[in-house]
Amino acid sequence: MIIVMETGASKHDLSEVKKRIRELGYKPHVIHGATRNVIGAVGDERGKGVLQTLQSLPGVENVVPILKPFKLASKEVHPEPSEVEIVPGLSVGGDKFMVMAGPCSVESETQILESARAVKAAGATVLRGGAYKPRTSPYSFQGMEEEGLKLLAQAREETGLPVVTEVVNPRDVELVARYADVMQVGARNVQNFALLKMLGQLDKPILLKRGMATTIQEYLMSAEYILSEGNTKVILCERGIRTFETATRNTLDISAVPVLKSQTHLPVIIDPSHATGHAHLVAPMCYAAAAAGADGLIVEVHPCPEEAASDGPQSLRPEDFAAMMAKLQAFVEVAGKQF
Ligand code: PEP
Ligand code: MN
Repeated sequence: MIIVMETGASKHDLSEVKKRIRELGYKPHVIHGATRNVIGAVGDERGKGVLQTLQSLPGVENVVPILKPFKLASKEVHPEPSEVEIVPGLSVGGDKFMVMAGPCSVESETQILESARAVKAAGATVLRGGAYKPRTSPYSFQGMEEEGLKLLAQAREETGLPVVTEVVNPRDVELVARYADVMQVGARNVQNFALLKMLGQLDKPILLKRGMATTIQEYLMSAEYILSEGNTKVILCERGIRTFETATRNTLDISAVPVLKSQTHLPVIIDPSHATGHAHLVAPMCYAAAAAGADGLIVEVHPCPEEAASDGPQSLRPEDFAAMMAKLQAFVEVAGKQF
């Protein structure tokens, strides 16, 4: 239910309503608006009718049901686009466009430092790099694990770029959170509800990738798992879905950008690397993402793609990344955003 407070409602009215929501067995989530506050009351769908009684409390203007199955992710509860702060002074969403870039996997000190310097010089503001890799084959490189996290921290120290890295197993959440500025949930884990619930308890941005066979509604329900635990810092990422097409690794669902934007306030970025699987297709999809109104990109860049331990064929060389970034500017501006 959404409890819409009156424009002149006092702080005391607000806290009384929150208290009553808790007494009824629901969780209150306050969204502070420019003119009025609203409270999303979420919890067991059965018996939610009891929340209608809040209507009679002082300061309450209206109590309305949330129609979508995803509640806190919906625009009904939060009509304005959300900005997610990565580190002070750097956020994603709103009128900003952010580029995260770096190798698929952290492989060595030289490799991650070279990548970090190159992507920073080209204008990226977040460094990516996997230390735990969810590989299709158990015989493929599985990542450097904690050693990789340490190298990411070293690259952050040197360049000042915050880092995004994937957590694959709920067991590693605490460890990865010690190093990462943004925790990535990979496509294969989009419905790992135990992992999502744990990440919901952190006060850290979560980059939640869409699964390769996840509908938009299922995807937003996964975001809801994180939000319902109290973590509001969710960034969505479309990274291609499975179709019959084999010319590309996946099919980039570019329409997911406006569809998501019509249903949720959460920022939406595009991963053109996993979506296409081929380096030469990455730049056009970056431009398409910006033109479609995405809030940013996450791009794989490797100093020497032919030697990459994972995803070499889809990784851009630093010079190709820099060329893409220079051309991207115009598309970002056309979409009314700032780089
Ligand atoms: C990755 O970012 O390297 C990755 C494994 O992505 P996805 O989960 O989208 O396949
Ligand atoms: Mn990859």
